[in-house]
Amino acid sequence: MPGFMNGWIAGALAFTALSVAAGSEPVDPWHQSGQAALHRALAKQANTARAKNVIVFLGDGMSIATINAARIYDGQQRGESGEENQLSFETFPYSGLVKTYNTDAMVPDSAGTMSAIMTGVKTKAGIVSLDDGVSYDQCDGPTAHNVATGLELAERAGKATGVISTTRLTHATPAATYAHSANREWENDAAMSAAARENGCVDIALQFLTFASGDGVDVALGGGRENFFGRAQADTEYPDKTGARADNNDLINAWQMQHPQGQYVWNREQFVALDLNKTKKLLGLFEPSHMRYESDRESGNEPSLSEMTKAALTILKQNKKGYFLMVEGGRIDHAHHGGNARNALNETVEFARAVQTAVDLSSDKDTLIIVTADHGHTLSLAGDVVRRGNPILGLAQGIEVEHDEHPIRRDLNGKPYAILNYINGPGFGELFGAPKTAYDRIDLSQVDTSAWLHRQEALIPLKSESHSGEDVAVYARGPWSHLFTGTIEQHALFHFYLHAMQLNK
Ligand SMILES: [Zn+2]
Repeated sequence: MPGFMNGWIAGALAFTALSVAAGSEPVDPWHQSGQAALHRALAKQANTARAKNVIVFLGDGMSIATINAARIYDGQQRGESGEENQLSFETFPYSGLVKTYNTDAMVPDSAGTMSAIMTGVKTKAGIVSLDDGVSYDQCDGPTAHNVATGLELAERAGKATGVISTTRLTHATPAATYAHSANREWENDAAMSAAARENGCVDIALQFLTFASGDGVDVALGGGRENFFGRAQADTEYPDKTGARADNNDLINAWQMQHPQGQYVWNREQFVALDLNKTKKLLGLFEPSHMRYESDRESGNEPSLSEMTKAALTILKQNKKGYFLMVEGGRIDHAHHGGNARNALNETVEFARAVQTAVDLSSDKDTLIIVTADHGHTLSLAGDVVRRGNPILGLAQGIEVEHDEHPIRRDLNGKPYAILNYINGPGFGELFGAPKTAYDRIDLSQVDTSAWLHRQEALIPLKSESHSGEDVAVYARGPWSHLFTGTIEQHALFHFYLHAMQLNK
């Protein structure tokens, strides 16, 4: 990725031998790069200015192992060894660890975790921006247990706001910025319980339309078109598909009536043709369900996460009072659930590119950028002393050299293993057609472990690979970014960025 501040690393690591400066002692390049890191750390100064703008980047399921492997994958895509590479946000001055549990779950879900980040209080798994007093799947009224979100508070303060996701716009993470729901599945009216409807509660897509804080969400880009129109109506892109709404309301049309100056787009051609400087409100719904993986994006005629980030910031920056933007790399999580590391890493690389786009379009003097994850996954990066520069998606090789080659690492039965594996999920040997004998692993010698849809090996057979309960990372730059250090409870992130914005609840 161009523009990254890692030139000094590439320079230092290009030489494995000691370099000799003219007329002086040999200097170890590692010593030099260590000194450079010290000087950068000493030059850090806390910025206590008000954050006019806040951007929250959320990598769904972006565990620390995911970031680590994606950094290597990204470097290797450019022909580098990989380990020394830095993703855009890894150059941020401050970072910390985040505890992700929900009030009722050690291993959490996206709804409870994102609610904590958006409202400042922890809640139960499956709940969208309601407090812990609510019971899952039980809605006692349209505003019962509601907790104001960072995006709502920014709207009330007159700021511009935006939500971007590669998942459905109504999916748990983006929904937690603008909606409140006792069940994350209530994305359209047909998905709701009769009891909830009778109590006056409304689905998440309709809540997007009726969002009443400030002048409404200014930019919303993602998938999930099906939740915005009825079963009696054909989809614009796929005429053989219909909407998901039982009430047959056309929320896209209603949004256009609400915002006569607004622009609605559903494919990349329309998206790139927009005159963003004249656009005040933008709604983009690029797929009936989730948007496609970055690896498959072009065939789907969809914008990338970084393109959506650039468009959103161009619009939001027009507001003199500032903006609040949430950008989700939502499908890192989906690739992991499928046991598919390559797409998870590729999604993470595009997510990092979107962060770089935001860095390029903002100033750290007045814009706080936070990059974090809602929860982890079981991806593991391991092996018995694996050689430097080993293809990250390949089989593990040792550091010794035998017959001019690095030996393939083997298990107790003589079978090779990959560096990337999952603790559980669909990559269990049995699903590859391997014998059921306990501990008899599949033979990876003839398997292309770097194929786009290859499922990495898993120990425990599950249909869908699971989340992990491990801490995730947070990276921050800009005003008050020095608060984002140490081991932090996830709901405290909200209190930190609200303090940076000098907004009150
Ligand atoms: Zn998930």
